[in-house]
Amino acid sequence: MPYHPGLASEDAEAAFGEVDYRLQRRRLLRDIACGIVDRDEACEIHPELLRVARSAAPHTGGSCPLCNEDELRLVAYVFGPRLGPGGKCVVSDHELQRIARRQGHFVSYEVEVCAKCGWNYLLRRYPLH
Ligand SMILES: [Zn+2]
Repeated sequence: MPYHPGLASEDAEAAFGEVDYRLQRRRLLRDIACGIVDRDEACEIHPELLRVARSAAPHTGGSCPLCNEDELRLVAYVFGPRLGPGGKCVVSDHELQRIARRQGHFVSYEVEVCAKCGWNYLLRRYPLH
């Protein structure tokens, strides 16, 4: 299933610790390679997420597991008080630090996005302190 940031707030009760999704990512990539999962489905992406990734998100340094292009970016969605139901899209560490210093509980969802083919995957979720 492609990651959809809008659904993330439903996991709120489980959001107090760090969750790493990289194992599931490996499994998904294997399933795509075997044809169990449709590649187009894995590359379905919200237009806003793709726009942010292309315009402002930092490169991860890795290449896309699907198209092999050097276009992997890292986008974070932060959920918490006054950030709205869809969370806030954050592309810099500086901004993350600023939110972390505010009052309240904030959770960051780190999403890997390929600006070329649209591959997007939630890598991990962790609380901001
Ligand atoms: Zn790609």
